[in-house]
Amino acid sequence: MTTHSRRLFCQAAGVAAGSLLNLEGLSAAVEAASTPGQRPRLKITDVRTAVTGSLHVRIYTDQGLFGHGEAVDSISGAVPIIQGFRWLLMGQDPLKVEAHWERIRTSGIFAGAQAGQYITALTAVEIALWDLAGKALGVPIYQLLGGKTRERVRVYCDSGTNNRADPNAKQFISQIIDLGFTAAKIDVDDAADPARFDRVNWTANNAEVDHIVDKVAFMRESLPKNIELAVDMHGRFDLGSAKRVAKELEPFRLLWLEEPVPPENIDAMADVRQSTHTPICCGENLFLRHGFREVLEKKAADIIMPDVQKCGGLLEARKIADMAHTYYVPMAPHAQASPMGSMATCHVMAAIPNALVLEWHWGHPARRTEQWKRYVKEGDIIQKGYITVSDRPGIGLEMDDDFVKTLLRPGSSWFAPSVA
Ligand code: MG
Repeated sequence: MTTHSRRLFCQAAGVAAGSLLNLEGLSAAVEAASTPGQRPRLKITDVRTAVTGSLHVRIYTDQGLFGHGEAVDSISGAVPIIQGFRWLLMGQDPLKVEAHWERIRTSGIFAGAQAGQYITALTAVEIALWDLAGKALGVPIYQLLGGKTRERVRVYCDSGTNNRADPNAKQFISQIIDLGFTAAKIDVDDAADPARFDRVNWTANNAEVDHIVDKVAFMRESLPKNIELAVDMHGRFDLGSAKRVAKELEPFRLLWLEEPVPPENIDAMADVRQSTHTPICCGENLFLRHGFREVLEKKAADIIMPDVQKCGGLLEARKIADMAHTYYVPMAPHAQASPMGSMATCHVMAAIPNALVLEWHWGHPARRTEQWKRYVKEGDIIQKGYITVSDRPGIGLEMDDDFVKTLLRPGSSWFAPSVA
């Protein structure tokens, strides 16, 4: 942007050049002062991080506008990874999202950019770029991903209970029903099951299989018929155990059985799927389109579940969903993210045709639910088991910085400026 056009742009926004632009003013100015071919030229001035239970990334520009991205799970080494590739973004136009993503990914092929922490770090950056692009252009992210196919996204509750001996079970199950969820999920892998003979090997004996079946039976008895139930085996069991459990759970007509075997061997996952008519779901530990190609080609899953906060980003999740759609496979993203990340995922789920349901993991313990409600200034974004997709620019939520700062991981900075 030239000095002259920058002055005009800032005048349109109603603020003095060089001062911090407010978001609504900036979006209005972009709409008034730009055409698709003549949008304001933003330059990236910094990439900063903060780590809570999630990795948060903010990308700043010379116009005072920033984008926010979140990543989860494989984040322990993400901050130095981002500082390592930050120079590829400095001074660049943030709206060239795909170009930046591909450049960062291909520049890291000898540094682990095929999966894991590198891709998780890149994911947070990619989401921040989309938030920034949406804010700069004055449109919600779903508009940049193809537009809306649905107004709201169905959410399921990871229940926090799974057995009749749990004194809190009644309370958690009542919560699922009272909050209006139409689906729930339980975990059935139990390293502390007294029937286990070995602390390391995960071959399920008869008693363990009985315990798993009883957990599912208890939840199925406790939930109304119209609330669907998914079951997670957390990728721990061996192939024979997984096939036994999948078969024994067939009468419960599950929404899905998740990661019945570990995620690395797709042939084993396909073997389980072929052995049962219980639907098989996997993908929370896979990365990029490349991670899902084999799952789809080998027909290893009825449902895929990339975690949009670690699989590569919003556009990558859209591409994974599109690949799956050609196999008539729906997508039900795994999610641990805060409301910021969850809403970012909802922009993808709004845009794709084959969205099934989104995970909500903050129902247990109660303290986490309070965090969920306070995380963004808009409050609880889940209403009656659905998230209405924001129509505001970018992700469309404002993080409550004062509150989230209290969750900062010891030793983490709060979006401190990068050292040049
Ligand atoms: Mg899982």
